[in-house]
Amino acid sequence: MNDLVDLYQDVILEHSRHPRNFGPCEHATHTARGNNPLCGDRISVCLTLDEAGRIEDARFEAKGCAISVASASMMTEMIRGKTAAEAKSLFDRFHKLVTGKSEPGADETLAELDSLSGVRAFPTRIKCATLPWHAMTAALEGKDEEVKTE
Ligand code: ZN
Repeated sequence: MNDLVDLYQDVILEHSRHPRNFGPCEHATHTARGNNPLCGDRISVCLTLDEAGRIEDARFEAKGCAISVASASMMTEMIRGKTAAEAKSLFDRFHKLVTGKSEPGADETLAELDSLSGVRAFPTRIKCATLPWHAMTAALEGKDEEVKTE
């Protein structure tokens, strides 16, 4: 049971119960949806980019598990103010963390995202954690379509 306790750290539960930036966005320039049939997570991500290409606003709506909602909540907080390239680079580093290619705590720029590193022990939950990020990437690439993890 220790693994499960590690998986649901307080910071994850807190974000899933009180997700940041949750709700529809009014002036989105980029949107995409994600679907993780394995778990039943559905998410839509919308971004507002300014003229310089920076992410001015990031919001999401979701029906999903604690991991997917917490990951989306942290993501929308962290990509704000970043360029598309910086947001994608953050996803690269987060992806390495949750797939076990980098060690928890090794990358300080991941901040709270580090709390999601426990999913590495649960391959099906990795998809929950990365779903919002795949949707965000699709939105930045102008693909207003549904991203599926399967
Ligand atoms: Zn899930």
